[in-house]
Formats: sequence, structure tokens, C-alpha cells
Amino acid sequence: MAGMPWRRAVVLARREETPTAATLLLHVDGDHQAVAGQRVEVRLTAEDGYTADREYSLARVGDLDRAEITVQAIEGGEVSPFLVDDIEVGAELELRGPIGGWFVWRPEQTEPVLLVAGGSGVVPLMAMIRARRDAGSKAPFRLIYSVRSRAEQFYRRELRAPDPGLDVTIAYTREAPEAAPRPAGRLTVADVNTGGWPPDFAPTCYVCGPTGFVETVADMLVALGHDPRRVRTERFGPTGDG
Ligand SMILES: Cc1cc2nc3c(=O)[nH]c(=O)nc-3n(C[C@H](O)[C@H](O)[C@H](O)COP(=O)(O)OP(=O)(O)OC[C@H]3O[C@@H](n4cnc5c(N)ncnc54)[C@H](O)[C@@H]3O)c2cc1C
Repeated sequence: MAGMPWRRAVVLARREETPTAATLLLHVDGDHQAVAGQRVEVRLTAEDGYTADREYSLARVGDLDRAEITVQAIEGGEVSPFLVDDIEVGAELELRGPIGGWFVWRPEQTEPVLLVAGGSGVVPLMAMIRARRDAGSKAPFRLIYSVRSRAEQFYRRELRAPDPGLDVTIAYTREAPEAAPRPAGRLTVADVNTGGWPPDFAPTCYVCGPTGFVETVADMLVALGHDPRRVRTERFGPTGDG
């Protein structure tokens, strides 16, 4: 990303997603055309000039002068707790991007799509779901979303609303609601098999979340017979169990 200019961004709105995560809507100086799945780099500058920057996936694309991100606060983290708990509407920060050309979904794609999210890895996949809906695409989508508990689930209401051609499977890893069709536990090959597409359908698979989660799911998909070239991955960070 070296050479890409930093642009001024202002927080227009903040929405609580869960008790430890928030969505920020930003106004960004200058237009940018983003593709679902891309990310931006966000830079904070302290009064003494100290800067810290981190990458965040775009949760929604389409508006040229807007950027929307959803941030999970990592305990003890330098940047994420500030973005979730402390930043106020009207605050200024800097942003550059969008970046990424492989982990993207474009409305021209008509093949079936499998999205597999671990925890906050659902953010760029939500951008793809929204882009599909906005484009009126008929591409069949399936989302498998692995999350610790209902309380930690992002975009709960939106993912429950009917969206023809989108099937959603939620796999709770720590605590499942009573009515959940599977008990709490880590995502298994059987979950990926049932909630996904048969390899014969040649879906494009997008897997996003903590590094360990992404590697495990990508291995499962290949073991199930999916072409590794159709398995696209995005790793958010070193730990976490999605
Ligand atoms: C391509 C990409 C896209 C990303 N998109 C998003 C997004 O949409 N939403 C989002 O919330 N985050 C996203 N992240 C993660 C984000 O960039 C930061 O790493 C995260 O917010 C933690 O930053 P921090 O400054 O709070 O923690 P740091 O101060 O950097 O780290 C504090 C501690 O937490 C650990 N840690 C760092 N990152 C994670 C993590 N992701 N999970 C668990 N432990 C971690 C570190 O090893 C360290 O021990 C993305 C990362 C990448 C690489």
C-alpha cells in the first residue's frame, strides 16, 4: 500500500453491533470505488504525534465517499477498543485504500458462492451479501458463520431477514441458543459439508477469520473435494477461536 495517499475521514455514525463490537460509518475525503471483500487501512494519531494503523474490511461498498467498518474490540488491543468504545461521532481519523484484488466478489460472478466466517471474519462476507442484494444478483449464496454465542453475532437482524437465494447457517462454538439445530462446538467437516455446496457445483469459497480458523476451514474444503484454486482466504490475526 506504500504510495497510496492517506485521506481524512470523519465518523458520521456509530452503531453498537454487540457489547464488544461497533460499526462505524465514515465520510471520506475524495471518491473511491470499492469492491466487496476489500479492506482499508485506518490510522489514528495521538496528540503527541504517535500514530497507529490497522487494517479493517469494508462492511458495505457502493457509496463513493463513505466507508463502513465493523470492529471487534480485542482485549488489551491498542486500536480496536478505542474504535469500539471511545471514538465519537465527528471524530477525525485517516484512511487509505481500498485494497485487495483476490478476496473480492463482483456482481458479474454468477457461480454459487460459499462464505465461511469465523467471528469478525463475517465483515467482508457481509459486504458481499449486501453487494449481491444491491445488484439484484441471482448468484446463490450460502453463509456458514461460526461465532461464540448469539450475543457475539454481528448483523443479527439483517441475517435473519429473508433474502432469496441466501442460506445462512450459524454455528455457535461456546453457547448455543436452545432452539439451535446443533449443539455448541467448533465447526466440523460435517457442518461445512451440510451448510456448503457440493464440489460438483464448483462454488467459489471465501473463508475469513482468525488465522487458525481460516487454515482449518480451507483444509476441510479441500478434503471435501473443492478445488484449492476456488478457495479464497483472508486472515485477520494470530489468535481467536471464531
Ligand atoms: C486484512 C485484515 C482485515 C481485517 N479486518 C478486520 C475487521 O473487519 N474487523 C476487525 O475487528 N478486525 C479486523 N482485522 C484485525 C485488525 O486489523 C486488528 O488486528 C485488530 O483490530 C486488533 O488490533 P489492536 O490494535 O486492537 O490489537 P493489537 O494491539 O495489535 O494486539 C493486541 C493483542 O491482540 C492480538 N490480536 C491482534 N489481532 C487479533 C485478532 N484479530 N484476533 C485476536 N487477537 C488479536 C495480538 O497478537 C496482541 O496479542 C483485520 C486484519 C486484517 C489483516
